[in-house]
Amino acid sequence: PLEPTSFDQVIKKRLKHISPILSLSYKEPIHMVRSAFQYMYDASGNTFLDAYNNIPHVGHSHPKVVNAGKKQMAKLNTNTRYLYEELAAYAEKLLGYFPPPLNKVLFVNSGSAASDLAIRMANNHTESTHIMVMELGYHGNTQTSIDISDYKFSNPKGQGQKQHIIKTPLPDTYRGKYEKNNPNAGKLYGTDAVTQIKNCGVPISAFISEPVVGCAGQIPLAKGYLREVYPAIKAQGGVCISDEVQTGFGRLGEYFWGFEAHGVVPDMVILGKPIANGHPMGAVVCTDQIASSFERGVEFFSSFGGNPVSCSIASAVLDVIEEEKLQENAKKVGNHYMALLKNLMPKYPCIGDVRGSGLFIGCEIVKDDSKIPDTALANHIKNELRRRHILVSTDGPFDNVIKTKPALCFSKENAETVVKAIDEILKTHYNNV
Ligand code: PMP
Repeated sequence: PLEPTSFDQVIKKRLKHISPILSLSYKEPIHMVRSAFQYMYDASGNTFLDAYNNIPHVGHSHPKVVNAGKKQMAKLNTNTRYLYEELAAYAEKLLGYFPPPLNKVLFVNSGSAASDLAIRMANNHTESTHIMVMELGYHGNTQTSIDISDYKFSNPKGQGQKQHIIKTPLPDTYRGKYEKNNPNAGKLYGTDAVTQIKNCGVPISAFISEPVVGCAGQIPLAKGYLREVYPAIKAQGGVCISDEVQTGFGRLGEYFWGFEAHGVVPDMVILGKPIANGHPMGAVVCTDQIASSFERGVEFFSSFGGNPVSCSIASAVLDVIEEEKLQENAKKVGNHYMALLKNLMPKYPCIGDVRGSGLFIGCEIVKDDSKIPDTALANHIKNELRRRHILVSTDGPFDNVIKTKPALCFSKENAETVVKAIDEILKTHYNNV
């Protein structure tokens, strides 16, 4: 076993061997050593309330998930070229959560690999290559996933927009062209996108979007938008892909999948992060027709995708979601959390918007009614929360949106702790300005 190492030793070793392109949270990073459910523990014995990490979906180190992995690792792990029951059983169990015609699944090892595969399958099926992508969307770190991620390719240090990419405006009712007070905002955004689809002059192979655009600052697509866009994409021969890497598996409370909130059914769904509670797994769910088109090409193989250990872990995750009624908890606790955050809005004009669903919440920090982003204050709140041993993050094009998307076992008391701390931080901030 490794000798216990000090903070200084760990950071020195990391900086020596790992490129800083892999960034660390906080100027003074936290040396984590253990975790359990919605808590993480650092090397000095401090307990952190984790209001940020959405990968340990059912809770950090959940014993049922850990045991499923341990047991299967000791029994059998192999690739998909042998027959073993865990793959077939998990595929059946997972597909049970999808409406028809979504009835086939392929497993990989990350959300990025799933996005990459989904685009390849879509192009295979449609025999075209143009992809319509969402402004500020993010789908992963492979070349193809970067090509379809405006958040990356439009970054000043990014590779720029490739010729086969069509970018469509974010249907954002806080900062966009049509706002919340317009009951037809979603339909209007949708109509604009349909005009873009009709006028782009090329067949679009696929349209890909997250239902709530995370890197854009937790922006839910305006209601009614997808109901316009999906039929238009399908009518011209393309497929619709919902990236549920962040939004899936009950996080949104009311819905198990984000697309359900929009009353649409995609042709393909991308899964990752929560699917196996942190064990590296991703998946592409699709229709029979898309799977058949793919079968006409070269063989698909993934050394680790869908192995017995991954399938056993992922199966335990679904069991825990059901047994502990975590989707219901996400709804109950999420509603309470959002209401508490919204209660702060009249008191502090810097809270411009509180949005989201279930335990997937964004809180936008601005100067005042002008909506000018206050990046410094958002970062101050994040750092002050950390000082109080609470973890959140910031994101969005102005890095001024506080993101909170904790494990689904988060409690009402946990939500109260976070909001009380934000209240105190802002009270002190306003007393000092
Ligand atoms: N899609 C979305 C919406 C994501 O948030 C991410 C990861 N942040 C990915 C895809 C890529 O997943 P991974 O990091 O597992 O490759």
